[in-house]
Amino acid sequence: MATAIAQKSYDLFINGEFVKPAAGEYIETFNPATNEVLASVAASSIHDADLAVDAARQALQGKWASLTPARRARVLVKIASLISERIDQLAQMEVQNSGKTIGAAKAEIGQVIEDFEFYAGAVTKLMGNTIPSPSGFFNYTLREPVGVCAQIVPWNYPLLMAAWKVAPALAAGCTVILKPATPTPITALMLGQICHEAGCPPGVVNVLPGPGAIIGAHLASHSGVDKIAFTGETATGRTIMELAAGTIKRLTLELGGKSPNVIFDDADIEAAVSGALHAIFYNAGQSCDARSRILVHEKIAADFVARFVAKAKALKVGDPMDPSTHVGAIISKRQLEKIEGYIGIGQQEGAHLACGGSRPDGELAKGNFLSPTVLDEVKNSMRVAQEEIFGPVAVVSTFKDEKEAIAMANDSIYGLAASVWTKDGARAQRLASALKAGGVGINTPYSIFPGVPFGGYKQSGYGRELSMQTLDLYTETKGVVMYTGAKPLNPFGV
Ligand code: NAD
Repeated sequence: MATAIAQKSYDLFINGEFVKPAAGEYIETFNPATNEVLASVAASSIHDADLAVDAARQALQGKWASLTPARRARVLVKIASLISERIDQLAQMEVQNSGKTIGAAKAEIGQVIEDFEFYAGAVTKLMGNTIPSPSGFFNYTLREPVGVCAQIVPWNYPLLMAAWKVAPALAAGCTVILKPATPTPITALMLGQICHEAGCPPGVVNVLPGPGAIIGAHLASHSGVDKIAFTGETATGRTIMELAAGTIKRLTLELGGKSPNVIFDDADIEAAVSGALHAIFYNAGQSCDARSRILVHEKIAADFVARFVAKAKALKVGDPMDPSTHVGAIISKRQLEKIEGYIGIGQQEGAHLACGGSRPDGELAKGNFLSPTVLDEVKNSMRVAQEEIFGPVAVVSTFKDEKEAIAMANDSIYGLAASVWTKDGARAQRLASALKAGGVGINTPYSIFPGVPFGGYKQSGYGRELSMQTLDLYTETKGVVMYTGAKPLNPFGV
């Protein structure tokens, strides 16, 4: 089967093959760097979604779930190796469809490969327990796949978010319906094909592009779906919880964030500036774990802001295919306008625009670009400090001591990630435990490594991805109680 790349039209991937959508509808998908049409992609209807659920249910009853973990692991390793062979094709498509830079796309696909390798290894160590039992009993647990999983992913990391979900589900023996975001469906379709080529039987991985409010919502309430794993906005997560309640589905929700970057006056300031820059401007700020709130000690605030603004101005905004570009395109004109709206709101609230806020001109004016933006003199109560902007906008506030830093960092409905910059090891540990966040980076902007649990506190969601704990969320634990006594049981004695 040829790799589905550089096509102008993409179909749905159901039951191991590309199929036309039942209603014959296609949606154009765009290159955010130019706003030119990239391809037209099939839009699933409810009928297609039902076919995909049927295929996934049948595949679940087939041999996939009953293969030994080692045999499934072999398929995961093969998926990793096919992705590795096709990294250039996948990265180019990811760049053209999402606007992220080529360097970022390649780094993320490197991690996609590691995700499949991680779960290939992990699942062979997934075990039940024998439980201390009363005399005459042998009690133990079995780990079984949760079943058919609908996996709904956003547009900011199209392939990476798909891998975070597909890899553990396959490892655990589940079958999958992957629902990519409407703006970025292509690499998810390519992944579906790769899984099939690597040895997933038909129906084990199905990929259903289509409108979230119709197809995502249908899957979330479908009686043939056992689990929803969702990444996206907190508001959508709330809707999915309601839809899933009817059938008591298992849920993993990875939602929004407004993550703090706490910089103490004893930090290596140059490292903190460089780290803070990456933590917000990577992926043009369109990261759920972007450290979009910079909280800096008042003693070093002026120095920090001067250095941070100088570096923000030095970042190259431009053609995402150019390896020297730091900041690529925003996903859509609508998202760009939303971000600009927030920059205006911040200024009305009293924040100071220290740099950015403008669209580059020339060739770049065709696409959705915005210069890295810094708002300082921000109060933590302002909307720009409380609401997810999801663009290249850093907001800077100051604190006077550790207690205030912790209070400000935790004063948010979100709790996804945080970073702390200090040379005081004991303080770093105090912060790591006091911050209400699913992940904490100490003297680093990074929080994502296969094996390290990733997920939210508070309204950033629940469940953990990328780790051993994730396998718990793709398996049911069955308790087995076995009578081993020599005399037959007769509890009523009649
Ligand atoms: P979104 O919530 O609009 O869409 C996410 C997915 O849900 C898409 O596939 C969409 O089609 C689908 N969807 C939309 N409405 C639906 C409905 N009613 N029922 C079921 N599915 C529906 O989010 P987005 O704009 O694509 O992504 C950006 C958001 O994702 C940000 O809030 C960001 O913080 C969050 N995000 C979180 C993480 C994390 O791990 N916590 C990672 C990446 C992105």
